[in-house]
Amino acid sequence: MDIKKVGVIGSGTMGNGIAHVFAQSGYDVTLLDIKQEFLDRGLATITKNLDRQVKKEKISNAEKAATLDRISLSTELQDLSECDFVVEAATENRALKFQLFNDLDGILNTAAILSTNTSSISITELAAQTRRPEKVIGMHFMNPVPMMKLVEIIRGHACSDETVAITVDLAKALSKIPVEANDYPGFVANRIIMPMINEAVFALMEGVATRDAIDEIMHLGL
Ligand code: NAD
Repeated sequence: MDIKKVGVIGSGTMGNGIAHVFAQSGYDVTLLDIKQEFLDRGLATITKNLDRQVKKEKISNAEKAATLDRISLSTELQDLSECDFVVEAATENRALKFQLFNDLDGILNTAAILSTNTSSISITELAAQTRRPEKVIGMHFMNPVPMMKLVEIIRGHACSDETVAITVDLAKALSKIPVEANDYPGFVANRIIMPMINEAVFALMEGVATRDAIDEIMHLGL
């Protein structure tokens, strides 16, 4: 499957980072939110982060301009109709995401893949809101998206091997490191990280080490 056009839903913390990395990797991106002011804020964040990359000499001014050229903004879900791949990164609300998946299913081409960046909602249940459950998958980026390499690829019960393979390849095309997981609460990254964070707090409470020492360990460990 040749993926050219990507839709990103939600221009908040995660959505603007996801739009940034797709556009920087050569994909045409439509970034969608419910209000123009949210989109303007998302685009301002992308511009600021690209400026930082230029300053660090990681990209040229021409690459920055080309990346921004590949991003269009929209408040109309219908504008995603031509997308080959969608990443949903809207607010973490079950009813809201169920509605979005149901609506998107009616708008997108039958071949399009619908992914979600959810941290906690079942991929299988999201897929069940559509008539294409084999083409619904978790694509869980880490914050901040332009910096963090790991992308968790979560297979819902009905997800096809082909959808997994396409999404893994896509993550690699973004220069990310994909890891596959099954659809369990917290998937795999948060399942491992959350007990570690809890243990760090207990260690601090018991006086095992200073906060600076624990911070250092957490940063090295993560
Ligand atoms: P956020 O609140 O920063 O952004 C969410 C955006 O979605 C907002 O701009 C909001 O206006 C928009 N939105 C709400 N309803 C919408 C709709 N119907 N259509 C289009 N846009 C809509 O949230 P975030 O932190 O970017 O989280 C987004 C998703 O990513 C959540 O599912 C969250 O669980 C997941 N996630 C977050 C992090 C993190 O560290 N923030 C990490 C991994 C995954």
